[in-house]
Amino acid sequence: MVIRINRREFLTNLTIGATTATALLGGEMATAEPNNRSAQNKSYPLFVSTWAFGKATNNAALGNYQRDKSLLDAVEAGIQVTEADVSNASVGIGGIPNADGIVQLDACIMNGPDHRVGSVAAIEGIAHPISVARRVMEKTPHVMLAGDGAQKFALDQGFQRTNLLTQARQEEWKNWQKKREKEAHSDAHDTITLLALDKNGDIAGGCSTSGWGYKLPGRVGDSPIIGGGLYVDNQVGAAGCTGKGENCMRYCSSFMVVEFMRSGLDPQSACIAAIKRIASTDPLGLNLEIYFIALDKRGNYGAAGAGKGFQYAVTTPEDSQVFQSEAVGGGTVGPEGGNR
Ligand code: ASP
Repeated sequence: MVIRINRREFLTNLTIGATTATALLGGEMATAEPNNRSAQNKSYPLFVSTWAFGKATNNAALGNYQRDKSLLDAVEAGIQVTEADVSNASVGIGGIPNADGIVQLDACIMNGPDHRVGSVAAIEGIAHPISVARRVMEKTPHVMLAGDGAQKFALDQGFQRTNLLTQARQEEWKNWQKKREKEAHSDAHDTITLLALDKNGDIAGGCSTSGWGYKLPGRVGDSPIIGGGLYVDNQVGAAGCTGKGENCMRYCSSFMVVEFMRSGLDPQSACIAAIKRIASTDPLGLNLEIYFIALDKRGNYGAAGAGKGFQYAVTTPEDSQVFQSEAVGGGTVGPEGGNR
């Protein structure tokens, strides 16, 4: 027998607090005043991105926004800059290859107002996976395309086939092969994740990465997984992850951060709460190597990491800065951050 219960009865029957009920059932973020751990922005648009290299991403996104006034265009244009940077060994051209010496890229883009998403995974030979992800969102009835299918779609859409493997990355890969290391390169990975908010409270986000260096061919990380590497909820805020994708995607981490914001936490506290929640049950404890950025609809933003901590970039028309994140568990923060 199916027992039907309406939302009001369900809420009345809940023996938990109103805030938790809001988190369970959705709805706008709780009205509790955010604590002051997160910074509050007063100038729009606001761009928050991962790592020190995110500053160039943010600046490009801002420039694009000031010309076009579309958050989605700004997110795409900002991430394209990082994808095109051959000196960045973890995103786009010049990204680190997989165990077979082939660069396979992951990316996704998400638009808050209509909750649309596009995503590509393990795509080869295409310089701007963020743009392919956007085409998936806008030109297909699907959310995610992977591997050969994603590449075929990109070529059909007019994207050019491009050699993504630079000589420098090829040399490093050959040396790694000679050593016959069985393990993927545990420290060679980063992601550009960009969150954007305009003065109307609309939110968009995107991310792009070559993923874990020397990964098994076909490995897909957290970045193209909605709710894993990125999540945007236009009623509440957005969150993104970088670091060891396996530890992020096992917990729908970005979704979790957004849900903590919905229940009333400010962005930084939400990032910390997600890390602590994961660490409380995971056999790895705090040795997770995951790092979050988050912003809420009111313009608060923050970040936190498990393990080594990291840097994140914040840009508005007034200012563009790189900050050290909170390192949960007292991990050390690298002097440079960015491209490891
Ligand atoms: N999260 C990415 C992945 O696992 C890598 C990173 O951001 O460091 O593919």
